[in-house]
Amino acid sequence: MIIVMKPEATNQDIDRIVGILKELNLSAHLSKGETTTIIGLIGDKSRLAGHNLEIMPGVDKLVPITESYKLANKKFHPAHSEVKVGDLTVGGGNFVIMSGPCAVESGEQLMAAAEAVKAGGAQVLRGGAYKPRTSPYSFQGLEEEGLRYMANAREKYGLKIVCEVTSESAVKSAVRYVDILQIGARNMQNYELLKVVGRTKLPVLLKRGLAATIDEWLNAAEYILSEGNPHVILCERGIRTFETATRHTLDISAIPVIKAKSHLPVIADPSHGTGVRAYVTPMAKAAAAAGADGLMIEVHPTPETAMSDGPQSLSPEEFLRLMEELRPLLRLMGKHI
Ligand code: PEP
Ligand code: MN
Repeated sequence: MIIVMKPEATNQDIDRIVGILKELNLSAHLSKGETTTIIGLIGDKSRLAGHNLEIMPGVDKLVPITESYKLANKKFHPAHSEVKVGDLTVGGGNFVIMSGPCAVESGEQLMAAAEAVKAGGAQVLRGGAYKPRTSPYSFQGLEEEGLRYMANAREKYGLKIVCEVTSESAVKSAVRYVDILQIGARNMQNYELLKVVGRTKLPVLLKRGLAATIDEWLNAAEYILSEGNPHVILCERGIRTFETATRHTLDISAIPVIKAKSHLPVIADPSHGTGVRAYVTPMAKAAAAAGADGLMIEVHPTPETAMSDGPQSLSPEEFLRLMEELRPLLRLMGKHI
């Protein structure tokens, strides 16, 4: 961190700051310019708790030079991480497709969706058993019954399964069924829930919050990592902007930004990112071209009867077409499904 002093700061002001740093066993590197003095602080910043340097006499501002997340930070872990989901690898040259309905509605609906996504080449079946809906009167999910349908579909089609968890009790049930735990956008800053999934050994798909900065998102990942679970996959799913033509604004630039700031794999979700079926395929391609490690795509056997997110769900035929169009692009990028 750098402490920038005001031009009118006195020697006494500067000495006071240096004295505090010394007392806290932090090194201070002084650089005196013609008008401004800056003090470089080296050491563990957490020792500054209870010392609000920014309001001390003569201090202009504090400029952080390292991010608060460490375990998620590429600076401390320069090689890209791969996350193992059984025999499936997320990251590296693998492109992972996680597809399926927004919500598990019935055993039949889920099996039909699983058949469709398997036929298209997806490796992971998605399906919500605990649905965090905007309205409490909307369908809330089949809970454990839904998890059982997911596990049956995994057996039948040899797919991995990912389900969202919305509470500690949902985690307790889900760990007995799923291959990947999903933290949804609305819970990205539910720090207690992040700690709970951090204490499991399962891979965690961490979606970006609706209004979260990349820094906040990586700090959310840090909560999981710091509990001892290194298996974190990030998912860009669109953020809330002033634009209303799409449900959210899929932040494609988040993908190269994550690649620059973190070693964690990152996938994109153009279904929730756009909310419009017709925009899913172009944005899926854009995400792949930007360097994403995979995609989450909502697929429903009959989108017109879906109990949630029908307008953004692809039919089995549309999903097959998306996958066909994606393959040459992935080959060009040196990635394989
Ligand atoms: C979902 O993937 O089912 C979901 C609810 O997405 P998000 O958390 O991104 O809104
Ligand atoms: Mn959905």
